Amino acid sequence: MERFTKSKTMVFPREIIVGHNTNQQVAELCERISTGKNVLIVADKKTKKLSGDEIHKVLKKASYIVKDKIVSSPTLGEVNRVINYAHKNEIDLLLGVGGGSVIDVTKLAAYELKRPFVSIPTSAAHDGIASPRASLKHSKGSVSKTAVSPLAVLADTKIITKAPYRMLASGCADAISNISAVMDWELAHRLKGEEFSTHGAVLAKTAAEMLIDNVEDIRPDSEESVWLAVKAMIVSGVAMSVAGNTRPASGSEHMFSHMLDHLGLGIMLKGKRHKKPLHGEQCGVGAIMMIYLHGGNWEKIRDTLKKIGAPTTSEELGVSKKKIIEALVKAHEIRPERYTILGETGLTHDAAKKLAKITGVI
Ligand SMILES: [Zn+2]
Repeated sequence: MERFTKSKTMVFPREIIVGHNTNQQVAELCERISTGKNVLIVADKKTKKLSGDEIHKVLKKASYIVKDKIVSSPTLGEVNRVINYAHKNEIDLLLGVGGGSVIDVTKLAAYELKRPFVSIPTSAAHDGIASPRASLKHSKGSVSKTAVSPLAVLADTKIITKAPYRMLASGCADAISNISAVMDWELAHRLKGEEFSTHGAVLAKTAAEMLIDNVEDIRPDSEESVWLAVKAMIVSGVAMSVAGNTRPASGSEHMFSHMLDHLGLGIMLKGKRHKKPLHGEQCGVGAIMMIYLHGGNWEKIRDTLKKIGAPTTSEELGVSKKKIIEALVKAHEIRPERYTILGETGLTHDAAKKLAKITGVI
């Protein structure tokens, strides 16, 4: 008989609380997941006011010793500042209260400190709120790092509804882009024998479909929309925990997005100043094009993104046509070890231009 030698570790959040006014449950939550009394709230200036102060009050009332640390950007320097501060104050439990950047900094600091961490999102702009990965900025774009899944997620829909709708639409686009990521993963499995998890893939697709099927309910100023989006993001995070990597939620569309970041562009278009495109917005536009390359139903993805109010064209994204093509041509360079529909050598300039035109991106 053949000996069985496989082994695998999956780390998931232990508790997920989503809904109206859940900030009020933070003390009970902390009691269930940690015996320590020293809690550190990591936030930025805005998210401290928006949610951190309320969390602080609730914990203090329950006789926790609460400290606050303000972070400004997702850099290694900020992670180290949080680590040093937590060491000095003998922190038992870290709470990341904010958007993707704050949560990523807290996630990495907690990982290094070997302390539990609770993810308390104040916006739902991307699927990092429940995932085991974090991305940090450096001089030439961003880099994805291994961390650990949050021990708990506390997502207050009342708070998240206050964030600009554009962020929620971007988060939805990020989760919807799981469709192309899974297509790439299946391709790499068939062509390169890459390890594939059926359950990880199904979960990632489910996260996307939860949004595609309920697209009519996703709109501004609605806690119901936040509820749907956060649920999809949590399922997406679980998919990554099952796979043990970001494959279920990050394929060629993410490489396209990272290449746009790397090229450092997108701010100017026809002399008008645009806001910097968000991660999920870029991934959504990328997904339309990559699903076309896979021969999939790219029109459905484009229509869904349109209904949500996420960008589907270079103009809406605020990136010039030339840069879209450049990012398509170079996207495969981002992670050469991650095989996708872009292949080992990427697209030619002509093919990239044709792709962007056919899908209406440019
Ligand atoms: Zn993403």
